[in-house]
Amino acid sequence: MTAVVWFRRDLRLADNPAWSAATHDNDDLVALFVVEPRLWSAAGPLRRSLLRAHLVSLDGRLAAGGGRLLVRHGDATSIVPAVVRAEGADAVYVNEDHTPWSRRRDTAVAAAVPVERFAGVSLHAPGEIMTGAGGPPRVFTPYYKRWVDIPWGPWPEAAAVRIGSDPGEPLPEEAPPPMAGGEDAARSRLAEFLDRIDRYPEERDRPDLASTSRLSADLHFGTLDARRVRLEAGAATSGRAAFVRQLCWRDFYLQILHHFPESIDRELRSEYAAVEWRDDDEGFAAWTAGTTGYPIVDAGMRQLTQEGFIHNRVRMIVASFLVKDLLIDWRRGERWFRRHLIDGDVAQNVGNWQWVAGTGTDAAPYFRVFNPVTQSKKFDPEGRYIRRHVPELASVAPRDIHAPWEAAPLDLAAAGVTLGDTYPFPIVDHAFARQRALDTYGMARE
Ligand code: FAD
Repeated sequence: MTAVVWFRRDLRLADNPAWSAATHDNDDLVALFVVEPRLWSAAGPLRRSLLRAHLVSLDGRLAAGGGRLLVRHGDATSIVPAVVRAEGADAVYVNEDHTPWSRRRDTAVAAAVPVERFAGVSLHAPGEIMTGAGGPPRVFTPYYKRWVDIPWGPWPEAAAVRIGSDPGEPLPEEAPPPMAGGEDAARSRLAEFLDRIDRYPEERDRPDLASTSRLSADLHFGTLDARRVRLEAGAATSGRAAFVRQLCWRDFYLQILHHFPESIDRELRSEYAAVEWRDDDEGFAAWTAGTTGYPIVDAGMRQLTQEGFIHNRVRMIVASFLVKDLLIDWRRGERWFRRHLIDGDVAQNVGNWQWVAGTGTDAAPYFRVFNPVTQSKKFDPEGRYIRRHVPELASVAPRDIHAPWEAAPLDLAAAGVTLGDTYPFPIVDHAFARQRALDTYGMARE
């Protein structure tokens, strides 16, 4: 028997249920990746370069077994069936993805050729946990209580098999990646995090420390399997359990998107569909450039441009600033994040943006408006994170760095800062903006 294994966001050979099953069921495999123009062009340069590095590494691993990764460019709905026919294959093996677009694509492929589907993207697949009444779970805590107790184990190991040796077309050229590509590098990142996992509960909200795992991009591209990560983290300490709980958020939002595909564009809480967003292009441009005059917001947005990453606490702060302080539609922020984050992921991004906007299933209440100055003082007390990403504030004292407009002009001058010249004045007054947001949300609810 011959099969095609179509890799998408499961770029690993270990702990991969589709790959493993294909190696057991067949004598010959073709490992395929389709560069879909729609997906490639939607990703920012850092994510594209990382994806490329992962594919180069996957190809290298296949080459060690005598094969190659067959790369094709174009529309997967025609390419995949064409490869199946050309290779005389009996079936296509995939790990299921859950975005509405991927599901439509996979349905079209399945209408043309037999497809074997596996659940290698999530830890527990959407639909595995339903409410007592049989509906889709909308609230995290009861979902988590069920999730944490479901029996599970690592995926079966792959068998030795013959792999097709046609490399197909070259991958697009990209800049050097922001981190090493491939599953071995991802395993090293996991091992490095496990050395400090016990500090996770105390430090995870601190953007100035190396506090979180930074495994989100590996989980997104599937260079790490979520089950493997949970297995290695274990639950022996509160730090480990706290970390595993975050993996559950990932499954939670995956199943939200699966059950509510319309949430990509629409408020899950329909009472907020009528919020009158401001059409503020200037504000949006300042937000994306990291020139809002709020140092913690600017640091976060510049980290996004520089690294394709933002610490979770700061993601909440910058997202709240866009939605509540600037009253700009959460969809604009979500699109910007999705393009520029190396872990940019429809389910996680939409779920979290709707959480911050207060429009999601299990969201922060709409009247919760993050204060960017108090958040900054609390979670970046010395201003180290700000200094790292906003170099023009590097010499400002810790007491002044969170709100430079409140500092004594002489102190600012001594630190080389002239507001309105070397660093902007705040583009909006937070107290005013907070009240405006409450009024606007309140009106939508009437
Ligand atoms: P850790 O704290 O080490 O967590 C471990 C893993 O748990 C993460 O890698 C991630 O897979 C998962 N996780 C942690 N927090 C969350 C969460 N709130 N929701 C879902 N899963 C979580 N995460 C993405 O992977 N892709 C996105 O596009 C994305 N967009 C976001 C947008 C906003 C506005 C916000 C507030 C959060 C977003 N997140 C997204 C969730 C979270 O910020 C990142 O997963 C996390 O910062 C990644 O860093 P880490 O791997 O060091 O996290």
